[in-house]
Amino acid sequence: MANGSGNRRDFLKCAAVAGTGLVSGSASRAEAGPKNVLSADRMGVLVDTTVCVGCRSCEWACKTAHGLSTEPLQTYEDRSVLAQARRPNASSLTVVNEHPPLREGGLPVDVKVQCMHCDHPACVSACIVGAFTKEENGSVLWDTDKCIGCRYCMVACPFQVPSFEFAKALRPDITKCDFCRARTLRGELPACVDICPLEALTYGRRSDLLDLARQKMTRYPGRYVSHIYGENDAGGTSWLYMASAQFSGLGFPDVGTKPLPGTAESIQHGIFAYFMPPVMLYALLGALMWMSKKRNEIDREAE
Ligand code: SF4
Ligand code: SF4
Ligand code: SF4
Repeated sequence: MANGSGNRRDFLKCAAVAGTGLVSGSASRAEAGPKNVLSADRMGVLVDTTVCVGCRSCEWACKTAHGLSTEPLQTYEDRSVLAQARRPNASSLTVVNEHPPLREGGLPVDVKVQCMHCDHPACVSACIVGAFTKEENGSVLWDTDKCIGCRYCMVACPFQVPSFEFAKALRPDITKCDFCRARTLRGELPACVDICPLEALTYGRRSDLLDLARQKMTRYPGRYVSHIYGENDAGGTSWLYMASAQFSGLGFPDVGTKPLPGTAESIQHGIFAYFMPPVMLYALLGALMWMSKKRNEIDREAE
């Protein structure tokens, strides 16, 4: 795969190191203080859909970085895959979809899709056992050991991101983009950003990425709509998008600008109101957590 310019790589590497500091800081602070603190220095990715050509190298790199099968490889040359509207799933934490031109004489628009790493994540609010957490560096992570498989996060996410490993009968997990935690902890770029041959993806501080997006709009008048998706949508997200046409035609949901955890909380309120009194729910959750813990102990002993 082709590499981008040295200068950009140097800039991105510095950003990756800065992100590492935030992640490490987050880990130590997380033990001492509450989660869900939004740092002004939190990281993000700016996706320029006017540059993306739908090569799907990012899909391949993401799978490789996460030990997922990249087979069958020939599908990476089969562009018909792009025309099917796909969502991230357990075997592909990110996917690229192609949308028909939105204006006469225009080109198809390729859009990479993955967890948006929301500033106010509905999945975190929905998770009744605290398996999902918002880190200070902007990423939204989850702990498989705590997960009890209730799948409220799947219902709560406005972007339909968390997936369940239905193919694994014995030990299914929730899966989603983890913002390449292992790589960024080592000071490396997220795998998808690192491989993108056209530099359609830029990793950096979210505030710097917003500045960069506005600079691009000024430098190339008429190329972009003025909306940076994710700047305020759903209360703000770590992944930000630029496009030449309205996002509603590119598969982006209209989620408003208010944080969405209210939806998640209403799910929980629904449980309390209609299904079972809290004491029963806590007993059930306790049993599920005990079973989950036991399962983890058995797995560890087997290993
Ligand atoms: S690697 Fe870059 S250009 Fe290729 S599909 Fe992904 S975002 Fe688009
Ligand atoms: S996109 Fe969905 S899974 Fe990702 S942080 Fe937002 S609510 Fe959670
Ligand atoms: S940040 Fe990492 S996990 Fe997320 S889509 Fe990119 S490569 Fe996949």
